[in-house]
Amino acid sequence: MKMRFCFWGGTAARRSESASMADWCVFCPIARRDPTSNTVLLYSDDRVVAFQDINPSASRHYLVIPIEHIPTVNNLQKSREHHQLVSHMVKVGKDLLNRDAPNSEEHRFGFHQPPFNSIDHLHLHCQALPFMPSWRQVKYTPLARLGGFVDAESLLEVIKP
Ligand SMILES: [Zn+2]
Ligand SMILES: [Zn+2]
Repeated sequence: MKMRFCFWGGTAARRSESASMADWCVFCPIARRDPTSNTVLLYSDDRVVAFQDINPSASRHYLVIPIEHIPTVNNLQKSREHHQLVSHMVKVGKDLLNRDAPNSEEHRFGFHQPPFNSIDHLHLHCQALPFMPSWRQVKYTPLARLGGFVDAESLLEVIKP
């Protein structure tokens, strides 16, 4: 698979390829902690950052994204690298919800599958239920035939090396 990156460093070839991507990817500036981004980070390390969903649909609704620009779950491979990355994203999300919403009825972790993803930069939805308003849950529930939303544990099974 051809890996693509959004950051501005690296080789000239890589930079020219990624320049247009960084223009349209709204999550890369957040992940890079770009000075133009005013998103408040709930967590960050050398692999991921976490922040609040701009349009929350649950009592707590956070996103965890990799710093590397991986477009969607379809770009993940059965590899130790990707399995560890997604496991780490889930752990970060769990820790945040355990800290901020320890008494909520349920914590959910999952990804939208194309074409149901709103932004082409991999992002883990971390939700402390209840959904608010309740009809929003449709968007975050696995639809047996259509796909649409995959819970994190199922995805980890699929990309297990
Ligand atoms: Zn990106
Ligand atoms: Zn999404």
